[in-house]
Amino acid sequence: MASPRVVLKVSGESLQGQRESGIDPSALNDIARQIVECRNLGVEMGVVVGGGNLFRGRLAAELGMAEATAHYAGMLATVINGLALQDAIEAAGGEVRTMSALQVRQVSEIFIRRRALRHLEKGRIVLCVGGTGNPYVTTDTAAALRGIELDAHQLLMGKHGTDGVYTADPALDSTAARYAQLNYRDALQQNLGVLMDASALALCEEHSLPIVVFNIESADAIVRTVIDGPDLERAGTLVDHGETRLAG
Ligand code: UDP
Repeated sequence: MASPRVVLKVSGESLQGQRESGIDPSALNDIARQIVECRNLGVEMGVVVGGGNLFRGRLAAELGMAEATAHYAGMLATVINGLALQDAIEAAGGEVRTMSALQVRQVSEIFIRRRALRHLEKGRIVLCVGGTGNPYVTTDTAAALRGIELDAHQLLMGKHGTDGVYTADPALDSTAARYAQLNYRDALQQNLGVLMDASALALCEEHSLPIVVFNIESADAIVRTVIDGPDLERAGTLVDHGETRLAG
């Protein structure tokens, strides 16, 4: 039987830990250790790396930079994070290949789908960097695309500062409730931006890729979510074709 395969989105924010920006070594090493542990427990691991801790294209464009150039700079930020994560994964004993959607040949292979599949089958962790290689979108779209084309059974969206998708922002509204399960349609209609970009979500819906949203900061969250599956009564949100329901 084929091994289970997931694609995990690691946002730039989750690598910055409690810092304002940049990379926090303890957050980085903890995420790397968990990715290696999941692989060692038999799950094929594709990882899509964000860059928002270093550079956000839209923000730079608002400050006056040419927008397309700003987005390319953002994609390069994901390469920097990817190299840091590659290093930490190797230090944790994992075998890893970094594959970029942008050509940065001295530091990474180019992303070629069939080669990525081969790496996964051989038990290597595949780090996807450079986003989609195209401006005006984010790494959420890259995560959806890689999840679909690498035939992942689940896309795991590790979040920073929230443990799932809520009916409203819990910081602003005390009546906000967590969705245990959320239908793609409802998520799109309610424009739940906390989950992921609408275009990325629509791709997941069209290709029936289930999304698990979880708090990447809670202890051992990646291992627990990947290996045990999300405990939706306690935390997290599963987005799929099922009925929308609140926790509890
Ligand atoms: N980006 C892009 N195309 C892509 C992926 C990313 O232009 O396919 C740029 C975009 O400007 C984005 C930046 O790279 O702001 C960093 O990625 P993102 O904000 O998605 O990182 P995350 O929020 O996951 O840390």
